[in-house]
Amino acid sequence: MHEITVLSGKGGTGKTTITGALAALAESVVICDNDVDAADLFLLLQPNIQQREPFISGNTASINTEACNQCGLCQSNCRFDAIQQTDKGYYHIDPFACEGCRLCERLCPQSAITSSKNDGNTWFMSDTRFGTFVHAQMGPGEENSGKLVSFIRKQAKETAAKNNAGYIINDGPPGIGCPVIASLSGTKQVLLVIEPTQSGWHDAERLIQLIRQFQIPVTAVINKAGLHEAMEQHIEEQLISHDIPLIAKIPYSQVFRQAMLNLQTIVEYAPDSEESQLIKKVWNTLAANKTQITN
Ligand code: SF4
Ligand code: SF4
Repeated sequence: MHEITVLSGKGGTGKTTITGALAALAESVVICDNDVDAADLFLLLQPNIQQREPFISGNTASINTEACNQCGLCQSNCRFDAIQQTDKGYYHIDPFACEGCRLCERLCPQSAITSSKNDGNTWFMSDTRFGTFVHAQMGPGEENSGKLVSFIRKQAKETAAKNNAGYIINDGPPGIGCPVIASLSGTKQVLLVIEPTQSGWHDAERLIQLIRQFQIPVTAVINKAGLHEAMEQHIEEQLISHDIPLIAKIPYSQVFRQAMLNLQTIVEYAPDSEESQLIKKVWNTLAANKTQITN
C-alpha cells in the first residue's frame, strides 16, 4: 500500500477538507487522522465506531507521604524538577512536570513512590463510507501526541495490509513538532496545502525544510486562491526554487462551506464544480506519483 500524508504547516488552510475529498476519490483506502491534538476529520467522515481502546501514553509518579521519610533523594535526582518540598517538609510530585521516567520510584529507599499509567487518550477503528478510519481523541491535560500518532499509523498500516488497501491517507497535524515528525516517518509522499497568506507561507516553508530531512517527495496545492494575488505569485516562485511541483490552485469558495454544512466532501456535494475538478486533478497526480515512486 502507498501512504500519502497531507500537511500544511499552519492550521486552518483547508488541509482536512482536502484530505476528506481525496479519501472520497481513492478507491481502496484506509484513512488516518494524525491531527490527534485537534482531531476534526471525524466531523466530515461521520464514522461508525467499531473499536474503542484506551491508549497508554506514559506514567505519572506520586508519593505516599506517610511512607516517605523526607530524605530528598528523589528530588535531587529528578531531572525534570517535578518534585517539590512543601513548607512543612512534605515531598510531592507535580503531575504536569513529571515525565514518567520512574527513576524516583527505583531510588526511593522507603518504596514510597508509585507510578500510575496515563490512560486518558482513546483511539478508535471505525467504518466510513470511504473505508476504514483510524483516529484518536486526547484526554484533557494528556500529552505525548507524537507517540499516539505513531501508534495509530501502525494500526492503519496493519489494517491496510489486512484489507489489501491501495492507499493510506494521513491527515497530518499543523506545525513542525513531534506529531508532524511522527506523521512523516515512512510516508511515501507528502501533499502540502498552502494558504496564500504571510503566515501560511511562513509555516509551509518551515515544514518544507523539515520534509527535506526525510527526503520524501512533495507536491503542493495553493488552497483559497484569490485571497492575495501577490502572495500567490511569491509562493509559486518559491515553490519553483524549492523544486516542488504545484498541482493546482483551488479557489476560495463558498461551495466548501456548503459541502461541510451538508456533512459531505466537496466531490460528493458538487462533483461537477470547478473545485471538485481541481481536487480530482490533485488526486490523479498523487496516484500517478505512486506509480513513479513504486517503480
Ligand atoms: S526518595 Fe522516597 S523517602 Fe526520600 S523523599 Fe523521596 S519519596 Fe520520600
Ligand atoms: S518519574 Fe521521573 S520525572 Fe517523574 S518525578 Fe520521578 S524522577 Fe521525576
